[in-house]
Amino acid sequence: ELHQNKAEYSFILISLSADDTVLPNCWIVVRLDGRNFHRFSEQHEFKKPNDDRALQLMTKCAQTVMQELEDIAIAYGQSDEYSFVFKKKSRWFKRRASKFMTHVVSQFSSSYVFYWKDYFKDQQLLYPPGFDGRIVLYPSNQNLKDYLSWRQADCHINNLYNTVFWMLVQRSGLTPVQAQERLQGTLAGDKNEILFSEFNINYNNEPLIYRKGTVLIWQKVNEVITKKIKLPKEEEEKEVEVTRTRTKVVPLHCDIIGDQFWEEYPEILAE
Ligand code: ATP
Ligand code: ATP
Ligand code: MG
Ligand code: MG
Ligand code: MG
Ligand code: MG
Ligand code: MG
Repeated sequence: ELHQNKAEYSFILISLSADDTVLPNCWIVVRLDGRNFHRFSEQHEFKKPNDDRALQLMTKCAQTVMQELEDIAIAYGQSDEYSFVFKKKSRWFKRRASKFMTHVVSQFSSSYVFYWKDYFKDQQLLYPPGFDGRIVLYPSNQNLKDYLSWRQADCHINNLYNTVFWMLVQRSGLTPVQAQERLQGTLAGDKNEILFSEFNINYNNEPLIYRKGTVLIWQKVNEVITKKIKLPKEEEEKEVEVTRTRTKVVPLHCDIIGDQFWEEYPEILAE
């Protein structure tokens, strides 16, 4: 009996210490999303349907996450969400899921508060915002591309809806309920048609950042800096220009559903 108990006990210990190490060789995606941002965006007077300050702040926070944490290959964001993709081969924190998720979410949240005033200026931050996080694994490159395509398709669907919705409210004076009823059951083509015929808006000319969201990738950039050097034989310091290559996180607002993006940046999936 003792023997059996011991076996059971070690089983419990193992499942508790639950090694939350994630499967090797999978892409690790952490997606975070603002908690109750419907309310947060109203209270902080976000411009509807798209507040540029809020989008830029989200991207600033995501850049900070990529720079501060290890092994993030690409990130994609829209609305109040961002997805971070860790390299397949990452050994960061022995691939422990809880470490990835908590570090991403806390670094992002503190950045949101830290950088708030740089984007919102006089608009006071009224209460501390929160973000939820989840972790998903994708075994193949195709799985990962499908995931990112899904988030970008979601961005498009929501943005088309929101663009018409807010036109009906702001320009035609419909109440939110009336606008919602008007759009019930409409297809993408119908929404495009309403925008065009009633508001003279060609949806395809709306800014890319609204329609496609934001992709963050690493790019090599050349930086020219002036350095002061002192030559051994000379008295005065001399200023010289030196070029150095740095890798920076760069935002793009392009399509990532088709093959073109992945053909243009093969190194993202290569490692
Ligand atoms: P939950 O806590 O379940 O995520 P939520 O209210 O945050 O609830 P979401 O589905 O995440 O629900 O929707 C985000 C909300 O935030 C939307 O209502 C959207 O209009 C608003 N929002 C987010 N970013 C912006 C922005 N840049 N400009 C205007 N509104 C925004
Ligand atoms: P990790 O990222 O692994 O957590 P860490 O540097 O945060 O690394 P901890 O084991 O968490 O390591 O130790 C926290 C450190 O912060 C200690 O070195 C401790 O001296 C310091 N620290 C935390 N709170 C205080 C405090 N109230 N006063 C002085 N030092 C503090
Ligand atoms: Mg949500
Ligand atoms: Mg949300
Ligand atoms: Mg959301
Ligand atoms: Mg510690
Ligand atoms: Mg610590």
